[in-house]
Amino acid sequence: DDRRLAEELRRMDGASYGRYKSLSGEWDFGDFTLTVERVQADPFAPPSRIGVRIPADVAGLPGDAWRSPVRRRATADHLVRRAHRVLKGARLRIDAGGQEVLDRAACQIHEGEVRLRLGIELPGHGRRIDARTAERELCERLPDAVDALMWDALDTEAATAFADTVEDAVALREQLPDLGLVAFVADGSVLPRRSGVSDLPMTGAAVPFASPESLRVTVKLPHRGEVSGLGVPEGITLIVGGGFHGKSTLLHALERGVYDHVPGDGRECVVTRADAVKIRAEEGRRVERTDVGAFVRNLPTGADTGDFSTENASGSTSQAANIAEALEAGSAALLVDEDTTATNLMIRDARMQALVHGDREPLTPFVDLVRPLHREHAVSTVLVMGGSGDYFDVADHVIMLDGYRPYDVTERARALAADRIDADFGVPAQRVVDPRSVDATARGRARIKRRDMDVLTFGESDIDVRNLAQLVDPSQVIGVGLALRTLAEEGLLDGRRTLAESLDELDARLGSAGVTALGRGYAGDYALPRRYEIAASLNRLRTLRVRE
Ligand code: ADP
Ligand code: MG
Repeated sequence: DDRRLAEELRRMDGASYGRYKSLSGEWDFGDFTLTVERVQADPFAPPSRIGVRIPADVAGLPGDAWRSPVRRRATADHLVRRAHRVLKGARLRIDAGGQEVLDRAACQIHEGEVRLRLGIELPGHGRRIDARTAERELCERLPDAVDALMWDALDTEAATAFADTVEDAVALREQLPDLGLVAFVADGSVLPRRSGVSDLPMTGAAVPFASPESLRVTVKLPHRGEVSGLGVPEGITLIVGGGFHGKSTLLHALERGVYDHVPGDGRECVVTRADAVKIRAEEGRRVERTDVGAFVRNLPTGADTGDFSTENASGSTSQAANIAEALEAGSAALLVDEDTTATNLMIRDARMQALVHGDREPLTPFVDLVRPLHREHAVSTVLVMGGSGDYFDVADHVIMLDGYRPYDVTERARALAADRIDADFGVPAQRVVDPRSVDATARGRARIKRRDMDVLTFGESDIDVRNLAQLVDPSQVIGVGLALRTLAEEGLLDGRRTLAESLDELDARLGSAGVTALGRGYAGDYALPRRYEIAASLNRLRTLRVRE
C-alpha cells in the first residue's frame, strides 16, 4: 500500500539516483493502483512515467458520463484538465491539451475505470535521491489529485455540461451532409483568438458572429436544442472583404471545426466536415511521385507531372501536391486562404494570358479546376480571396465580411462575373507505398520524438510538420509518429493496398479501440491525429518510396 512506498522511499534517501529504478512495478494505494513504468536515469533526463488506475466503483462515474465513445472522450478530457489544475506546482505532469477535445493517452476510461498516465521529475540532490520530496509528490500530491477526480468531488454539473457540449458538436457535424453543408457557424460564436500565440477566445472587443439571413440555417441539437447560424453550402464558397475584416479568422475557425471545442471556447458550435483539409503552398517540401498533372503540364525541364517527384518543390507545385494528396487521402472539402497560397496557382488574369500564351505557361490555375472538382468529384472548396474577382466566375456563394460581419453578396458578385472555360481535372491518383521505405527504427529501436509542433523525428528521419494547420496539439505530433509506425509494422502498408485503403484499415482499428491502439510499448503522451495529417506527414517523409 502507500505506506509501503513511503517506507521504501525513506530507505532510499540519499542513495545514488539510479536506485529509483527499483520502484518499477505496481504499488497498491487502496483506492487506486500506481504503476511505475519508466524511471529516468538521472535528474536531467526526460521525466519518469507512471500510470494510475482508479477502479470504476471508486471513481464513481455514472454510466451517462462514459457509456458512449463521445461522452467517454469528453469525460476523460474533463478529468485530465482537472488533474492538470490540481497538480499545478507539482513535479507531476499530465497532458491536458488546449482548446480541442481529443482522444489522448493521458486519460482513458474503460468500463468506468479511469486510467491516467503522468510524468514525474523524480527529485534529487545532485545525483542522490531526495526521498522526502519524492514522498510528498507520490504519497500526498498524487493521492490528492486522484481524490479530486472522484465523481463526488467534481462539479458534476460542469462535468455533464462538458460532455453535452462535445456531444452537441459531434451531432452537429454528423448533420452537415444531410443539410448539404460543409460547415456551420453558430450565431453568437466568438471566432477571434486572444493573440497569435494564444488560442483562447478574444475578450472584450470581439464581435460575436451573426449569420446573414439568406444563408441562415437552424439545426436541432440533443442538448442545446435549436441553434441558428451560417450554413456554408457544399460547392464553391468564396469569402471576400477588405483587409483586416476577419476573413482569415473565419477560415481558421473552419479549419479547427473538424475538432470539438471545450465549453467557453467560443467555437463550441463551429463545426466543419470531418474530412476538410486546409491547403497551402509549402515551398521546399519533398514530393514523391504525385500526380500534379491537372495543375502543371509541360514543365521547361520536361518532367512528367503525372508522376512528379522533387526534393524541393516550388510554391505552386507544393500547393498542387498538397491538393492531390488531400484528395488521395479521402478529403472532399478544401479550405484555402489567399494569405498562404501561391498566387500563380490560384489565378491568371486576362492581361497576363494575353502576354504569356497557353503553351508557355505550365500552370492551370485552381480557378479553372475548382468547378470540375465539385462537379466530377464532389469536392467542395471554401476559399478566402480578397485580392481578385476571378473567382466570382465560379463561386456558388460569395460571403463578404465587413467589420467582422458576414453578408451574402452572391447576386452582386454574379453580376460582375464573366464566362470561364473549365479545365479538366482528370481522376485523382492512388499510390501504393513501398512498405520498406517507412521505418520507425533508428539504431535498432523505435524512435518517435517531436520538436515542438514543428518536427516529427521518425526513425532516422525528421519530418517537417510545421505547415500542417490541422495538427493542433503537440501530442498529436507523437500520435502521427505512432500511426506511421502502426502502418509500417502491422502490415497495413503491405505493398498492395493503396495508401487510402491502408488509412481506411487504420481508421477501422482506431474506431473500435481509440488512440491507445497506436501506443503499444510507448510510455509517453500522445493524442489522436486525423488520417489527413497522418497521410500528409507520410508524404513529407524523405525516405518515402511509392511502388510502380
Ligand atoms: P483578414 O484576413 O480579412 O485580413 P483577419 O481575419 O486576419 O482579417 O483579422 C484581422 C484582425 O481582426 C485580427 O487581429 C483578428 O483577431 C481581428 N478579428 C477578426 N474577427 C474579429 C471579430 N469577430 N471581432 C473582433 N476582432 C476580430
Ligand atoms: Mg487574411
